[in-house]
Amino acid sequence: MTLKENAELREIVRKIALLNAIKHDGKAQAGPVIGKILGERAEYRTKVKELSALVNDVVREVNSLALSEQQRIVEEKWPKALIKEKIEEEKRLPPLPNVNTYAQVVTRFSPNPDCVLHLGSSRAIVLCYEYARMYNGKFVLRFEDTDPKLKRPVLEFYDRIREDLAWLGCKPDEEYIQSDRIPIYYEYAERLLKDGNVYVCTCQPEQFRKQILANKPCKCRNLPSEEHLTKWHSMLEGGYKEGEVVVRLKTELNHPNPAVRDWPALRVINAKKYPHPRVGSKYYVWPLYNFACGIDDHLMGVTHIIRGKEHLTNMVRQEYMYKYLGWHYPEAIHYGRLKITGASLSKSKIVQGIREGLYKDWDDPRLATFAALRRRGITPEAIKKMIVDVGPKTSDVILSWENLYAYNRKILDPTADRYFFVDNPIELTVKHIPKAFVAKLHLHPDKPERGFREYAIKPNGGDNSTAFWVSKKDVDVSKIGIVIRLMELFNIEIESVNVYSAEASFISESYEEARKAKAQLIHWVPVGEDMPCQVVMPDATVTEGIAESICKQLKPNNIIQFERFGFVRIDEVNMKLTAYYAHK
Ligand SMILES: [Zn+2]
Repeated sequence: MTLKENAELREIVRKIALLNAIKHDGKAQAGPVIGKILGERAEYRTKVKELSALVNDVVREVNSLALSEQQRIVEEKWPKALIKEKIEEEKRLPPLPNVNTYAQVVTRFSPNPDCVLHLGSSRAIVLCYEYARMYNGKFVLRFEDTDPKLKRPVLEFYDRIREDLAWLGCKPDEEYIQSDRIPIYYEYAERLLKDGNVYVCTCQPEQFRKQILANKPCKCRNLPSEEHLTKWHSMLEGGYKEGEVVVRLKTELNHPNPAVRDWPALRVINAKKYPHPRVGSKYYVWPLYNFACGIDDHLMGVTHIIRGKEHLTNMVRQEYMYKYLGWHYPEAIHYGRLKITGASLSKSKIVQGIREGLYKDWDDPRLATFAALRRRGITPEAIKKMIVDVGPKTSDVILSWENLYAYNRKILDPTADRYFFVDNPIELTVKHIPKAFVAKLHLHPDKPERGFREYAIKPNGGDNSTAFWVSKKDVDVSKIGIVIRLMELFNIEIESVNVYSAEASFISESYEEARKAKAQLIHWVPVGEDMPCQVVMPDATVTEGIAESICKQLKPNNIIQFERFGFVRIDEVNMKLTAYYAHK
C-alpha cells in the first residue's frame, strides 16, 4: 500500500493540515504539516518524499475550503484538537526549512577544544541534536582545532567536551577532528589556486588593507596562477615565516562589507614555537575558520547549519567558495543572542580565572560550565527543556538563573526526597514534654510509598526535656514568648535565647492549634541523631550545619531537598556530609 492509499494516515494529515490552516487565515503550509507528522510518527521518517506528496495533495484540498468551513470541520470531528494544539505548540521546535530536499538531515556542533563547554553553548548543541532526532537525521561533532597559536586547543578539553555532551544527553553520531584533516584542506586550496579563485598574498597587512578599502586588487591578486602555485608549495615547505604570507579567497572587490572582501583562507604559523597538541610541528600552513568550516560542512554532508546570527557574515564569505567549487550551500538558521544574566559566559574569562586560581576548577559553583551545573544538581533535562522552549528564533533572548532553576525545580520536585538540614545551628532544649512522641517524617509528602524516617522523642530528667538542633534564624530573641511548631511534632513556646542555646516549653500537640496561633513551622534535628554537613553555595561560600544522621545512607550524585533550605546535590559522604546547592 502506498502512503497515498493509506486512509488512516490521510485523515491524520487532514486534521493537522486543517489545524494549520486555521492558524494561518485558512491557508495551510505543507512544511509545518510534514514536520509535525515526522515528529509524531517516526515510521514515516524514511518516506519523506512520499509523505510530502500526500501532504501537498491534502493541503491543496484543505486550502480550497473557506476558513469558516475549515473551522466547522475541526469543531465537529476533533473538538478537543484546537485546545491540544495550543498546548503542544509551546513545546515543539518549529520545522526546519526544505527538509524534503535532502535524503537525511545532518546537523553539526563544532567547538574549539580550548575550554570546557558552558551554558552559552547549550543552544547550539541542544537545537542541533534535537533537530537531528526530530528528523531521524545525524548529529555531527566536529572539533575545530586549527589555530595552535591564538585559540590554542588543549588535549584535556577534547575528552571533557565529549563527556559534557554525553551528560547533556546529546551524544554525537559521528565525530571529526579538523587537525586530522589538514591534507584535505590543502587539496582544496590547491584546486582553488589552479582555478584562480584563491591567491597567495605577500603584501604587508597595512598595504593590503589600503587597497581593499579602496576596492582595488593588491599587487598579488592578478598574478598568473602558476606563480601562486609555486609560492603555495614554498609555503608548505616552510619557505615563508609566520605573518609573511596569506592565502586569500577572491570575492567581489566592491562587496559592501569590507570584511568580506578577499577573505583570508590559510596562513603560516610558526610550528616550532606553537606546536599543535595533537599533530605537533608537522604543518606550517593552517586553514582559517571560514575555509576549514566551509569545506567540512559540505564534505560531512551537513544540510542544516544552526548557529548564532554573529555568523551571518561567515555565510556570505563561504558562499563564494561554494560557488567556485560548484557546491550547494546548506540551509542556514541563525538564531539570536542568548544572554543569561549573572552568568559569565566568556571562555577567556573562565580560562583566565582558573589559571589565576580565582576558580578552584572547571566545576567551581560560580561558573556556568556544564561541569559546575552538573555538580550543583542542575539536570540536563532542565537545560534541554529551556533551550527547546526558546527555540531557534532570531530575536535576542535574555534568560536568568531563575528561569533555569524553575525548569529544574519542576523536574526535581516530584523526585527529590526531603530531609532536614539545620544551618547555623543552636541547641534548643524543650522542657515539660508530657509523654514520649514518635515523629514520622515522610521522605516525600506526596509519595508515602517512598518511606519515612522515625524519631522517638523521649523526655528526660526532672524537667522532662529533650534537646534539638534548630537554626539560629528560626529561634532568635525576637521569638521569646512566641509559639512555634516543630514540624510533624509539637508546639512550643520560646522562653530564652542565648548565643549557643535556647530554651522552650512544650505547649500542645495538635497541628490545628499551631494553625490557630499562626505558629511558624520550623524543621529540626534531634541532638544525638545528627551528623555534620556543609553546603557549598553558588557563590562558593560554605554554609555549615547539621543534617539528620540518616543522611549517611545517601550516595554521591543523589539530589535531595533540604526542607526550607533548597535542593542540593550530594557530593561526598564521609563522617561529614558535603552537598552542593542548586536552588530554592
Ligand atoms: Zn597581496
